[in-house]
Amino acid sequence: MHQMDKRTVLITGAAIGIGRAAAQCFAANGDHVIVTDVLEDEGEAVVAEIQAAGGSAEFHTLDVRSTEAADALVADLNLRFGGIDVIVANAGIALRVPMSEMTDEKWHQTIDVDLYGMMRVIRPALPAMKPGASIICLSSIMGTAYGWNEHVQYSTAKSGVVGLVRGLAVEYADKGIRVNGVAPGYIRTAQLLNPGHSLGPDAADIASPYIPMRRLGDPAEIASVIKFLASSDASYLTGQVVTVDGGLTPG
Ligand code: NAD
Repeated sequence: MHQMDKRTVLITGAAIGIGRAAAQCFAANGDHVIVTDVLEDEGEAVVAEIQAAGGSAEFHTLDVRSTEAADALVADLNLRFGGIDVIVANAGIALRVPMSEMTDEKWHQTIDVDLYGMMRVIRPALPAMKPGASIICLSSIMGTAYGWNEHVQYSTAKSGVVGLVRGLAVEYADKGIRVNGVAPGYIRTAQLLNPGHSLGPDAADIASPYIPMRRLGDPAEIASVIKFLASSDASYLTGQVVTVDGGLTPG
């Protein structure tokens, strides 16, 4: 495929976890993947893996808390590629904070990355996106189906992502730009497993008894749904948040 024929796919938070799996999935599909993250070594490693497998990718440092950085990167991509074809707004953090210890700073920390961070990347990209382009935002079952102890600000941000998806989808439907979300359940990534984050190292033991499929999900099982939502196979699908959780919630 000639470079100009490839779709340009921008993924935030693509150095590890679900974002990394999505980068590999789009690259295997023949797309040119813009891997972005605050983790530079890990992001460069994803690009190296993709290129070693014969795929096309480039890394850019992007902290989604910076409007200036998002504007500058998207302007550069718009200039070089004539508009972004697919945005996967994936970067996110899930910090444990009991409401009794909530401060304005801790509240803002999560909302800033998980909700504003998506808008910051999507906003400058929209004017140059063409019919057939699509946006996929990562919500969570904690934003669509239920809450979890010490995750009030995370649930709030991820519910906000549902509003972002629905509002944008309606506003851009007649321009041929589709906007959808994915609400993962418990997926085997650093966010879920690291001590101090979400469920922690015992996540599989804690969550599996409640999951009808009796296991955590794999990042690739989210990436494949993201890829479908960005494909022409989903050409009449917009404004939806697809739950991918091994049957845990009714959706
Ligand atoms: P992860 O922690 O493995 O990866 C998140 C990525 O986002 C990391 O590469 C991190 O460096 C990046 N990131 C964090 N802050 C950033 C910032 N300010 N700017 C740019 N990048 C930043 O997490 P994951 O599990 O792969 O999560 C991906 C998305 O899926 C997140 O939005 C998360 O909330 C959502 N999600 C995950 C699960 C799960 O069980 N793992 C469940 C539901 C939703």
